Amino acid sequence: MFNVYFSELLVSTVTDNCLSQKFQESTIQDLSLYNFQVDNNQVGEIAALKLEAEPKLPGVILTEEKKLSGMISRQRFLEHLSRPFGRELFLKISLKTFYQFAGSDFLVLLGNTTIVEASTRALQRPNCIIYEPIVVEIEPNVYRLLDIHHLLVAQCQMYQLTNNLLHELYRKLERANKELEIQASLDALTQVANRRKLNLYLAQQWVKMSKEQNYISIVMADIDFFKRYNDTYGHQAGDKCLQKVALAIDKTVQMTTRTNNESLVARYGGEEFAIVLSNTTSTDATFIAEKIRSQIKLLNIAHKTSCCSEIVTLSLGVATTLPKLGSSVEKLIAQADRVLYQAKSTGRDRVICSL
Ligand code: GH3
Ligand code: MG
Ligand code: MG
Repeated sequence: MFNVYFSELLVSTVTDNCLSQKFQESTIQDLSLYNFQVDNNQVGEIAALKLEAEPKLPGVILTEEKKLSGMISRQRFLEHLSRPFGRELFLKISLKTFYQFAGSDFLVLLGNTTIVEASTRALQRPNCIIYEPIVVEIEPNVYRLLDIHHLLVAQCQMYQLTNNLLHELYRKLERANKELEIQASLDALTQVANRRKLNLYLAQQWVKMSKEQNYISIVMADIDFFKRYNDTYGHQAGDKCLQKVALAIDKTVQMTTRTNNESLVARYGGEEFAIVLSNTTSTDATFIAEKIRSQIKLLNIAHKTSCCSEIVTLSLGVATTLPKLGSSVEKLIAQADRVLYQAKSTGRDRVICSL
C-alpha cells in the first residue's frame, strides 16, 4: 500500500511537472495574434477603416517592400486623429509620414519567444510605451501583432497554475509523509507499533507523566513455548499465530483502558510484546494484563506441544512507577522483564506484578 501510494504520488508529480513545464515553455505564437500588415505607402484612411471594422485590432504593422518598417498602435493612431484637424490631415497622408509623427520604438520578438521571456521584455520598456502591442515575427518577414493585455493575462494564468500545482504537490507530499511516518512506526507482520515507535512513545510519555506526576505501567507479554509451536505447526502458522495474538492484545487494551488514558501496544521482538499504559496504577495494569491473558486463551489456538496448556498462552510481567525527569525508563522495562521471567519460571500462563 505504501509503495502504491508513493508511485501514485510520483506519477502525478511527473504529470503535474510536465504540465507546469509545458506552460513554462509556451510561446507567444501560441497566443491569439492579430494580422494587419500594410505597405507604408498606403494612406492613413486604409488603417482607419480597418481599425474601425475590427475593434480588437491593437494596431497596424507597416512594411516597405515587404520588410518591416514600423508599427502604429491603435491608441497612438486614434490619439493623432483626435487632434485638431487630425482626421483631415492624417487620413490623407501616407502611413510612412503618419509614422514619422506618431511612431515610437516598438518591440519585435520571434514567435518562439516564451511567454515568460516576452512578458519580462515587454515590462522592461519605458512607462510611456509599456502598453504598446508587440510585433511578433512568426516567419521571416511575416509579422503579427500581440496585444500586451493578452500576454499579461497568459502570464498571470501561468503563475496561477504553477501556484496551484505547487499547493497540490505540497498537500500530496504532506499526505505521503504522514503515511510514511505511520508505516515507519508499524511492525510489518503484526501491524502493532514497532520497537522504534515504542522507544519514542515511552520517552514522550515518561516526560509527560513526570510533569503530571502520574503513574506509568509497562506490561511485558511473551508467548509460551513458541519455539515448539513453530516446530510443530511450521513457521507460517507461527506468523499467523503472532498476528492473532497481537490483534487480540491490541483490542483488549483498547477496550480496557479508560478513555483519557493513553496506551501503546508494541512488538518488543520475536514473540514478545510490550504494552505501555499511561496514567495507570499497578492494580489497573495487572487487571489489564489478566484480561489480555484470558483473551488470548479465548482465541483457543491449539498448541499440542506446549508444556503448560493445550492452547497458546501468554506469560506477563507488570511494572509500575511514578516517573521522575531524568530517571531511567530502562529500569522499568528491566523490572517488567524480571517479573515476566518469574512468570515463566513459576509455570507460565500467568501474570506477575512487580511490587
Ligand atoms: P518461553 O515459553 O520460555 O518463552 O519459550 P519460547 O519457545 O516461546 O521462547 P524461545 O525464546 O526459546 O523461542 C522463541 C521463538 O519465537 C523462537 C523463534 O523461532 C520464534 N519467533 C521469533 N520471531 C518469530 C516470527 O516472526 N515468526 C515466527 N513464526 N516465529 C518467530
Ligand atoms: Mg516465548
Ligand atoms: Mg521470548
